[in-house]
Amino acid sequence: MPIADRMIKMVAGMEMVKKMFEEGARLRAEHGPENVFDFSLGNPDVPPPPEFHRVLRELVNRDDLGHGYTPNPGHPQVRAAVAEYLGSEHGVELTADLIVMTAGAAGALNSAIGALVNPGEEILVPSPYFIGYDHYAFIAGAVLKTAPTDNRFHLDIAALEAAITRGTRVVLINSPNNPTGAVYSAEELTGLGAMLERASQKFGRRIYLISDEPYRKIIYDGTVPSVFQAYPHSIVVSSYSKELSLAGERIGYLAVHPDAEDAALVTGAAIVINTMICVNAPSMLQLAVARLQGVTVDVSIYKRRRDMFCRGLAEAGYEFTVPEGAFYLFPKSPMPDDVQFLNILKEELILAVPGVGFGAPGYFRLSYAVPEAVISGSFKGFKRALESV
Ligand code: PLP
Repeated sequence: MPIADRMIKMVAGMEMVKKMFEEGARLRAEHGPENVFDFSLGNPDVPPPPEFHRVLRELVNRDDLGHGYTPNPGHPQVRAAVAEYLGSEHGVELTADLIVMTAGAAGALNSAIGALVNPGEEILVPSPYFIGYDHYAFIAGAVLKTAPTDNRFHLDIAALEAAITRGTRVVLINSPNNPTGAVYSAEELTGLGAMLERASQKFGRRIYLISDEPYRKIIYDGTVPSVFQAYPHSIVVSSYSKELSLAGERIGYLAVHPDAEDAALVTGAAIVINTMICVNAPSMLQLAVARLQGVTVDVSIYKRRRDMFCRGLAEAGYEFTVPEGAFYLFPKSPMPDDVQFLNILKEELILAVPGVGFGAPGYFRLSYAVPEAVISGSFKGFKRALESV
């Protein structure tokens, strides 16, 4: 085989994802798109805010814009704009030199992990977790370790502490969470921060916290508490993929806490990795998002869908925790084998992602980045599928 040995398993994994997409397309062609209820994709369908289109038109009309390479960590004025907004949001004095503009949150995660973790060392994540983390750990040659969450998918600090070893370099959290919709409270984060301080002392080595927050603005009650207030040795990673519905444009950033241990060194290493991965984040998109700080998609659209989906699934008899943010529901599979149950749902032309892919067999993920008609049209099928097991 000409491909690297370590790639064989990864390619097979990606083939499964591709098959799932193809299956959706096949069912739509066979039964008509209006009869297929596809909840498998986390691709935001809510339109970007009108401000985005206005800013983009202004930029496109400028003959003097320039389309060359940008400085590797991003345009200085863009980093400054992001630093100013994030600093006020997180209640810290952030400066442009602690911001790196990246190709989405994925680019930021690869850069942050690459900066901090040696091959063979551990990244610890609460489970269920976003499947991309397996890939980012793979690229860094790191080991992804998991610790369970509690029965509401919130942090179990004792379980995380028990899973930390001498090899743990990073704890990676994601709130609002994909796939569970959990939003960690300020108390949870404070508890996590205290635990990370203890563990760093115990092993004589600083453990960093990476907080992956691309769904930060997709929240249904209040705001997302800041990790920067809970633990200084933190990196916030985020993007405009969900909050501005720009997932295909690949624009995001990472921000290092100013009081983090060796903050300048860590930021510098992340810049080097980012340069190796993509040279610089897309230039025009950097310029656009700098002018859109604090602007978000209409979150009420997601909230209406969440409420509608929760009502329908509860009436059909499903067990689930109501999502506090993001746009996913993570119900319990009515039978232990979630993959088998998804085959039953597929007979009802309902598509979802098995929990096993998120490290949580016995559950399945439904994305409500779909029109309301898809949600309301699916309820009869959900009910029949549950009754059949
Ligand atoms: N982190 C989480 C939890 C996600 O759900 C996603 C994408 O779905 C990403 C990171 C990657 O985001 P981006 O598209 O901004 O790279």
